[in-house]
Amino acid sequence: MSDKKPTIHRGRFAPSPTGPVHYGTLIAAVGSYLQVKSKDGEWLVRIEDVDITRRVKGADTDILKTLEAFGLEWDGKVIYQSKQTEYYEDAVEKLLSQSLIFPCLCSRKQLAESGNLIYPGTCRRRSLPESKEHALRLIAEDIDIDFNDAVMGKQTQNIKRQCGDFVIKRRDGLFAYQLAVVLDDALQNITEVVRGADLLDSTPRQIYLQQLLHYPTPDYCHLPLAIDSAGNKISKSDGAAKINLDDRERLLVSVLDFLGQKPPAELAQSGINDIWSWALANWDVAAVPSKAQMQPVTGQK
Ligand code: GLU
Repeated sequence: MSDKKPTIHRGRFAPSPTGPVHYGTLIAAVGSYLQVKSKDGEWLVRIEDVDITRRVKGADTDILKTLEAFGLEWDGKVIYQSKQTEYYEDAVEKLLSQSLIFPCLCSRKQLAESGNLIYPGTCRRRSLPESKEHALRLIAEDIDIDFNDAVMGKQTQNIKRQCGDFVIKRRDGLFAYQLAVVLDDALQNITEVVRGADLLDSTPRQIYLQQLLHYPTPDYCHLPLAIDSAGNKISKSDGAAKINLDDRERLLVSVLDFLGQKPPAELAQSGINDIWSWALANWDVAAVPSKAQMQPVTGQK
């Protein structure tokens, strides 16, 4: 891997297999697909099962079957994070050699009781090896991370003040999402990360890690979240309504509408291939709204 950005556009869809595909999953799949395919790039699929405790049996195949039913064809082989641990281990070694990691013995309960939203630095002076059960945290340096999101605009976060030392390997021995995603995006030469806006806040941590590990930083594009009538993000782990594949044309057109693409109403009467042709020819990332919106009541089971 080098610091130079590869020239081929490469995007990815990276669902966690935590439940059935719902409207929010579809938004991320469609948005990431169109953003890269409209530039003749490649679209990869990665199953983010690094947190094996949240894995729901069969959810991965359900996701892949749904993508196929929508005509969303991925390039290359589907990668599973649970099979990538040796790469995550290597990255931890690299960060250790920069003296940027410390063992943290604090339990969740202790941290919650301390009342701090940002990790207070309790274990910062500890060093490895550590015999007690511990997580590994990365030292957050006093630097500003800036990036320009294709939908959300200019973003900036001070890693030390606004985020704090963060976990890269959990107490239970599992690698944290922040580390895994950075490794996999780099290993797969991803140039465009398109995903839900709930991860906008994680992006500075990921860029920080890319800088420490000398990986290129991809372009970022965070899509508006679909929310329910109470204003909560709909999510598969909370049992959001499974989408109904019998209604996929209408659903796909409604996702395009959700993403601000203004599809003509009669497009829902067309076949799935014609809808994709329209979407690819008309995709305009600048038209994607930045605000969360209510999920339209269409195509649910
Ligand atoms: N696995 C995450 C999810 O399903 C997405 C992570 C990402 O796209 O970076 O919400």
